Order: sequence, then structure tokens, then C-alpha cells
Amino acid sequence: MFIGQAASPGYVIAKTKLIVRQKVVVSQYKISKDGTASQIDFFRKGIMQVKKEITNLRDITLQSVSKKDSEIFDSHLMILQDPLLIDGVISLIRNERWNAGYAFHLKMQSLIENFENSDGILKERAQDLKDIYNRTLLCLNSSESDFALQEEIEEGGAVLTGFSIGPNMLMNFDKGKILGLAIDSGSVTSHVSILARSMQIPAVMGLGNLSESIKSNDLLILDGTNGIVIVNPDENDINKYKKQIEVFQNQKLELFTMRDLEPITMDGKYIRLNANIERYEEASEITSFGASGVGLYRSEFLYFGRNALPTRKEQAEAYSKVVNQLDPLPVTIRTLDAGGDKMLSLVNAEVESNPFMGWRSIRLCLDRKDIFRTQMKALIEAGSRGNLKIMFPMISSIGELEKAKEIYEECCAELRAEGLSITKVELGAMIEIPSAVIIIEEIAKRVDFLSIGTNDLIQFTLAVDRSNGKIASLYEPHHPAVLRSIKLVVEAAHKEGIPVSVCGEMAADPLSTLLLVGLGVDELSMSSWCIMECKKIIRSVNYDEARAISTEVLGFSDAGSINSFLKKKYSQKIKNLGISSFITAQDFTTSDRALIKIDDEIQRIGS
Ligand code: PEP
Ligand code: MG
Repeated sequence: MFIGQAASPGYVIAKTKLIVRQKVVVSQYKISKDGTASQIDFFRKGIMQVKKEITNLRDITLQSVSKKDSEIFDSHLMILQDPLLIDGVISLIRNERWNAGYAFHLKMQSLIENFENSDGILKERAQDLKDIYNRTLLCLNSSESDFALQEEIEEGGAVLTGFSIGPNMLMNFDKGKILGLAIDSGSVTSHVSILARSMQIPAVMGLGNLSESIKSNDLLILDGTNGIVIVNPDENDINKYKKQIEVFQNQKLELFTMRDLEPITMDGKYIRLNANIERYEEASEITSFGASGVGLYRSEFLYFGRNALPTRKEQAEAYSKVVNQLDPLPVTIRTLDAGGDKMLSLVNAEVESNPFMGWRSIRLCLDRKDIFRTQMKALIEAGSRGNLKIMFPMISSIGELEKAKEIYEECCAELRAEGLSITKVELGAMIEIPSAVIIIEEIAKRVDFLSIGTNDLIQFTLAVDRSNGKIASLYEPHHPAVLRSIKLVVEAAHKEGIPVSVCGEMAADPLSTLLLVGLGVDELSMSSWCIMECKKIIRSVNYDEARAISTEVLGFSDAGSINSFLKKKYSQKIKNLGISSFITAQDFTTSDRALIKIDDEIQRIGS
């Protein structure tokens, strides 16, 4: 049994598919003279990391399989220590100025060819070289969109297991064939988890060394609600989980009674509930989950998995589909937010040591105005019905906001000159950087709405990498610094008479939902299928009471006491609603609790 983070709820009993072995298409670019030292360093670190992985595999094989089988990994280690290979790659970086991944590719390809053209044992060894090649390039290539699976997933689907997977890789698969994700690295707010939730694929992240301990076709129980993976389960476990799956499905069905009810508190306060979407195809589903519009369309997903950037025409068509289909409901499209853990190989070619704080999002767009303007014109074209809102991500200063707005105005003028009649759209800023919180009064004066991106705001306020499972316990949505920041944003928005939304993952966590409502947030935006659960929760409380609780919480000095207080006030209420499919980040930080939770559920079903 492996315990990780409950990243997307639901249960699956299925065979696994290891995604460690992959076919690689390598990024190829020249580096500057000054960049050679850091590329060489990057290459050496990559090799060290792969050696560590292989040593682990060797040890596990030695313990659990046989000495003979483990020796294969010794030969892999020897190849990675071969000075001919290592020095050869370094000389290609230093003299030819190739990036590390491409230099390694060049060297390895000639080795593989030599082996393949030989006879006997050498020919057989070519496969070993390919394994090393794939594994090393996973480390050296910063752009996971360049990876594709060598083998297809069989009919019937599988749970994908591997060291890491990114959102663009996930999007390359046939959606119907991915039954779940069980991934060694990552966390609840990694973009791949967000995508898994929106695709309703159960997922557990941060599983440590799971992928080293299983083989393709092993049977798994994946429990995305509690963050548990059971490898080769016995009959007993399988029967328990079959019951659990039934309960989960019934709960989901029962929730549909909420769909057409208003998200209104018992004393009449309306909280708008919008959907977050990543793919334009999702737009058609959101109303069937009771959403009142789209609060966040992550437009960058339109750019993934392609050989060229999407043209203005392609983008205008995609955006129009969403906007027209949902008219008159509002649709908020966020401009390109590439970078961080959403690298676009076509744009983010250089390796960054700190990608989340690097050349990404609005910064990238303001540098690559060609890309930004193309998107902006496509958005303006799609906005003719008046229900489109455009929002800018990662705003950290007034200068950035003004520049982005200027580009919008220029694009409007150019399109007008082309003969297009322009409908004015609302412009908003995402608040996800502490500097934006501190100057929020100035920002609020310049926009039509605000949307708080708590995933990033928490990461940057607490200096905790949102995708690093190792420090997940430090990622505290209820840290007083986060809550007080949210309060400042709400106050500034309301002072200017504009609405404020929360579109980060905490919007859909029951305790956080109520906390945010009490802090005065007007709208919440989340994966569409969380909306019905959220309605149920909102309809069960009094706004006045929620306000009093949130106000009291603002005076607390640490997340621990805030969580205990909120649980005392709300847990029983939430429990009585019979909702268990939620990811309650505050509840399942330890494995023990997760296991107790499962046993509770099972007893409930049994009785
Ligand atoms: C956020 O940061 O909260 C957000 C909604 O944007 P993303 O998760 O795409 O960074
Ligand atoms: Mg963000």
C-alpha cells in the first residue's frame, strides 16, 4: 500500500501502465557561450539523478527478484559512467554549443545505431541503451510535451503510473483510456492534478517510489479520494473497494438533485458558482453541473501538443465556441499563462532554474507581443456577444497591467480599422502574487473585476512550491497571511464596486468554501463537477454566521488553530450533508487519517 496526496477523487480497480519508458523527441537549440557552464552542470546533475534512480531500481530488484536480474542495472550504470559518452556530450555542449538534451541525443543515437548494427549480445544490448536514453532525456528535457508513449494503452484503459507526468502529456492521451493516475511526484495543486479533476480522472500524486515497485499490467486499487494506492490487492481489498465505488457513484447521482437549485445561503445571500475549464470542449458540459458561467478558462491548454502556435483564426474559433455556446452566461478567458509547470516547448525553449518564478505568463506575453496580440485579437473577435471577460494572469505591478490593457486597446483599434465592429469586454486581473495584494487598491481602480488565483497566491505568499510533494504540508491555504491577503483584495474590490472571485483549488474545499464566503468573496470558480457539492454546502449555512466565523478567524495567528476552529464550527454540518467525494486538503495530510476515513466509510456501507 502506498500513501500519497488525494489529487482527484474517485476509485478505480484496474491494470497499470508504466509511463517511464517513453519515446523521446528532443528539443534542439544552440546556447550562448556564457550558457555552456550551466548546461554542463545541468547535464552532470541529470546524469547523477538517473544514476540514483537506476541504483534504486537495482537494489529493489536485488531484494525482490534476483541477483541476476539486478545485474542488468549494473550494466546501465556502467554505461552512464563511460567517459567516452560523458566527455563526448560535454564536448558537444562546449564546442558545438548544443543544449544538453540534444548533445546527449547525438551521442547516444550513434551508440545505439552501432549496437543495433552488430550481432549477438551487443545487438540485444541496444534496448538497454534505449532505456537509458529515454530515462536520461526525461531528466534533461525541460519540455514534457516532447514525450510520447512508445506503446499504446490497450483497449479497456489503464491507470498511468510513472515518476512524473505533466498536463500537456496527459492531454496527448486518449481520454477514454486513462482510468487513473498514480504518480511518484507532484501535488494536489500541480496542473496535472487540476486537469485530472476537470477530466474526472481519479488521481494520487506524490507517491514516492511507487513506479519503481510495480510493472505494467500489475493490478491496482487507486483511491483518489483518500490518496491510497494498493498494488496487487487481495480479494478482501477488492471487495471493500467495489462497495466504495458503488457508494461514490450513488453520491454523485444524488448530487444531481442540486443542479438546478440556486447557490444561495439559508438567509438569502447568492454566491455565483462558475466553472474552471481547460479545454473548449468542456463548455458544453458546465451547465449540466449547475454552473452559472465560466470563471476561468485556462487558454494555454489550447497551445499544448501542437507543432505550431495556434493561429488567430483557430483561437477565435475555439473561444467563440465557448462564448457562443454559453451566451448569455459570462465566460472569463484568461490570457496565455504558459511557463512554470506548463512549459510550451514552442516558446519556453530555455531551461530555467526557477520556472515558477521565471519567464512565464503575462511576462512572457509582454515580451512576445506577437503571441499576445494574436491571442488578444482572437479574443476580441470572439467577444462580439458581450458575455466575454478577459483576465490577465500573474499581474505583479501596475506597469504590467497598464501594458496589457494598452495592447487590448491597440488590438481593438486595429480590428476596427479592419472593419470589425467591437463590443467592449470587461478586463480583469488575477491576484496571485503578494506584490499585487499590497497594491490592490491601485489595481482595483483599473479593472472591471478581480479573480484571486489562490494556487499561486499561496505558493508565493508562503514560498512553498505548489508542485513539490515533499513540502506539501507547508502549503497551507488557511495560513493567516493568505486569509488576510484575500480579505484585503475583497475590501479593495468592494470599495471600487467591482466583483471578486476565487478561482484557485481552495474554492472547492468545503471548509475553505465557507471561509471564503464569510470573507465576502462574491464568486467561486472550480471544476464543474464540484459545483453541485458546493451548492449543497452553501445552501446549508447562514451568511451572517459565516461572516462572523471568518471575521473571528482573521484574528488567529496560525493555520493549525484556524483549521481546528473551522472544523469545530463546520465539520458536523458538512458530514451531515453526506458528501465524501471532496478533496479536503486540511483533512487528509496524514496516512493514518486517510485509512481511518476509509474504514469509516466501509463500516457505514456495511451497516
Ligand atoms: C491559481 O493560481 O490559483 C490559478 C487559478 O491559476 P493556475 O492554477 O492555472 O496557476
Ligand atoms: Mg495561477
